[in-house]
Amino acid sequence: MSVNTLEAIGESYEVLSDDALAKRLGTHYYKRAVYTSGNILVNPAALAISVASALPSNVTLLENTPIREIDLASKVIQTPKARLSADTIVLATNAFTEKFGVSSNRITPIFTYASLTRQLDDSEIKCFEGIEPWGLTSAHPAGTTVRLTSDNRIFIRNTLNYQPNLSSSKAVLDKAKVKHRKSYLARFPQLPDVPFEYTWGGMICVTMNHEPVFKEHASGVYVVAAMNGVGVAKGTYLGHYMAEFICGKQSPELDFILKHAAPSWIPPDPLRSVGAHMRLSFEEHMAKGEV
Ligand SMILES: Cc1cc2nc3c(=O)[nH]c(=O)nc-3n(C[C@H](O)[C@H](O)[C@H](O)COP(=O)(O)OP(=O)(O)OC[C@H]3O[C@@H](n4cnc5c(N)ncnc54)[C@H](O)[C@@H]3O)c2cc1C
Repeated sequence: MSVNTLEAIGESYEVLSDDALAKRLGTHYYKRAVYTSGNILVNPAALAISVASALPSNVTLLENTPIREIDLASKVIQTPKARLSADTIVLATNAFTEKFGVSSNRITPIFTYASLTRQLDDSEIKCFEGIEPWGLTSAHPAGTTVRLTSDNRIFIRNTLNYQPNLSSSKAVLDKAKVKHRKSYLARFPQLPDVPFEYTWGGMICVTMNHEPVFKEHASGVYVVAAMNGVGVAKGTYLGHYMAEFICGKQSPELDFILKHAAPSWIPPDPLRSVGAHMRLSFEEHMAKGEV
């Protein structure tokens, strides 16, 4: 969020630079940053697992249950073992949404990747003495996200690539890991020997004008998708307003979402492929030292 936006919404912030910034982060890599004290750092896996474990008893959660077919008119879903019918269906299927036939030429699946070090040992964590866990998002969207986690690990996320078949490969993951290492060493040269314990990738779903899909597609069939890379934040508030939309609860916030949720048209492949590759290469080039 830019300083102008923070000013406009009355959110408190602090601009830190040079030594004062290095003292807060434990790295001299950054020159200037905006700190928003009203934020909290969320572990998305812990959030998803906790929400799932806190579901009320009238909710049944089916995991590892692929939907093989869906009839949007009769609202019948076919899974490998069961045929389910419902009064209301909400598709929260992000980059997979166009496979369900509820949106066409509006979304682009992009993979991004992250690595997490092992826990820093007692001598290594001394480099961060007096420093609270932090999360940092680059000013450029194609830059690197970095975190010092509360369990003393360093997290690095970068690399964006277009994967129209909705899956990635080990070769691409290995390449991303090399890039993560480079970004890590540039920021933490004082800890060159801390290895990454995990490296993984996942899909984000972007639209040309950064607006989400949020609509009633057919009677009783709702769609909420395309969080444009910040699904933990946007998915949470859009999920809240989707529930209110289904229940018929009106509000100025819901009106605002409905008015803006109109992703612009994206040309089909091969044009989409060419455009996505060119745009991502351009963005990564422009992000420069933020990667
Ligand atoms: C490395 C990485 C770092 C990220 N960091 C951040 C961050 O710091 N902050 C942030 O806000 N966001 C972040 N994101 C983005 C965030 O993870 C996504 O925006 C978020 O996961 C989107 O959630 P979702 O539930 O809408 O979609 P998804 O998590 O993509 O879920 C879609 C679901 O649909 C299911 N599905 C699809 N087709 C079928 C079918 N036929 N049958 C059954 N199920 C089906 C899939 O299995 C999947 O579970 C990051 C993403 C990655 C990969």
